[in-house]
Amino acid sequence: MKGEGRAVRTRSPQETRRLGELLGSLVARPTLIWLAGDLGAGKTCFTQGLGQGLGVPAEEPVTSPSYTLMNHYQGRLPLYHFDLYRLSHPDDLEDLGFAEYLDGDGVTVVEWADRFDDRQREGLTIRISRVDEHTRHIDLLPGAEDEALLVEELLRNWHKEIPS
Ligand code: ADP
Ligand code: MG
Repeated sequence: MKGEGRAVRTRSPQETRRLGELLGSLVARPTLIWLAGDLGAGKTCFTQGLGQGLGVPAEEPVTSPSYTLMNHYQGRLPLYHFDLYRLSHPDDLEDLGFAEYLDGDGVTVVEWADRFDDRQREGLTIRISRVDEHTRHIDLLPGAEDEALLVEELLRNWHKEIPS
């Protein structure tokens, strides 16, 4: 099923990071997260917060895995951070065993979701769009019922902190 989408606005990188952190702190089971949005939208910024919320040690900062395609971090759940920006050939993903991470034991985050053309895609899609220099519009698009509940909980926490 496709759940109903929700949207928020962030007004600084700190806010986007905080949104990611809240999501990371709420995730309780293996989850697949697709991050869509142009270069500089804030996908890595969001993922850094997510790592923090998942309890990835601060000594192990989450950085963009552009050249390696995937970085692995250990938090409450494992975090597998993919970045498909420099993906030149789909075979490279097969070599990494990408399919296994789509239904894996941890939180799999994929930057540049649009490079992975799969209309049957499962998981939570988060689309970040630049509004102006400091403002981002963030669409939260759950693919399944438990992801829709996660999004609702995220937004409840978010609006407690950040007035809309
Ligand atoms: P991406 O991974 O999508 O290419 P990054 O997270 O690496 O993007 O970079 C986002 C850039 O946008 C950073 O330079 C950050 O400081 C800037 N920025 C400005 N406002 C925001 C915001 N509201 N949320 C996220 N990033 C923002
Ligand atoms: Mg990035």
